[in-house]
Amino acid sequence: LAGDEKYEMIKQLGRGAFGTVVLAKEKDTGQLIALKFMERRHVAVTKKYVRREVINHSSLTHPHIVKFRECFLTDKYLAIAMEYAAGGDMFKYVSNKGGLDEKEARWFFKQLILALDYCHKMGVSNRDIKLENTLLDRLAPGHKPVVKLCDFGLSINESNSQANTMEVGTPGYCAPELLEGGGSQGRGYDSKLADVWSSGVMLFTMLFCTYPFDDPKDNSKDPKIVNVNIRKRVMKGQYSYPRSPKVTAECRDLLDKIFVVNPKERITLSGIQAHPWFKKDFPENL
Ligand code: ADP
Ligand code: MG
Ligand code: MG
Repeated sequence: LAGDEKYEMIKQLGRGAFGTVVLAKEKDTGQLIALKFMERRHVAVTKKYVRREVINHSSLTHPHIVKFRECFLTDKYLAIAMEYAAGGDMFKYVSNKGGLDEKEARWFFKQLILALDYCHKMGVSNRDIKLENTLLDRLAPGHKPVVKLCDFGLSINESNSQANTMEVGTPGYCAPELLEGGGSQGRGYDSKLADVWSSGVMLFTMLFCTYPFDDPKDNSKDPKIVNVNIRKRVMKGQYSYPRSPKVTAECRDLLDKIFVVNPKERITLSGIQAHPWFKKDFPENL
């Protein structure tokens, strides 16, 4: 069976820059899965990234990473079939709740860090860690949602690609060493430490429902100007904690160790896992 005959489309789940993600049912088994469609005429332009997405994502198997199933071509699209995360993405989850308490944020953060640690051990850096790319298995009373990292569209594998500052992730999430430029050739950086930075942005956003490097006084409506201001603040490591909600000193200590501009002085993934805030409630979950 050709890929698109194997599945019955149900509804749209989300969309990103080049992709539309659809909920579908595998006709043979009745199993629900997610199909990410990328237009082939776009794929021509972004070939390198799509190839990396497919190769890197398919090389990963972990309880906190959306399981890659297969990839196929239709007339117009390249499609990736993957595990369906019924709880939707964490951007919606955190926005609906208006922020999470520390215990719940830790529950999610731990799982994200375990997923990232595994990726890094496999040589893959995600480079696009954010709430929109962190999915949840399902939302049901009495069930603590399980994190499923997705979207390896910006990922690289150290065995075949060099991280280069010419390829930058999402403003607001992206580490300062990526914003320094380095001329038309760009320059290399340690993409693992850049993932650490973005995980800190995620933790901050889960807790406060605002981005650490947004300027609360910046009223500019022009997204270009806003981005320039965010970049300046990221490069200086300029962030501040909202007055509410209050978070513990341990939690701030961890964030302060993540948002260190010089990547060589930034806490590592092992450092995060040894931090007192991370280890609280252990081994209650995970
Ligand atoms: P893009 O690379 O264009 O950002 P993503 O892979 O991040 O595309 O998918 C876009 C959105 O679609 C996600 O933010 C999420 O809301 C939804 N989505 C993606 N994959 C799944 C999945 N496996 N299960 C449920 N929803 C998904
Ligand atoms: Mg995405
Ligand atoms: Mg993507």
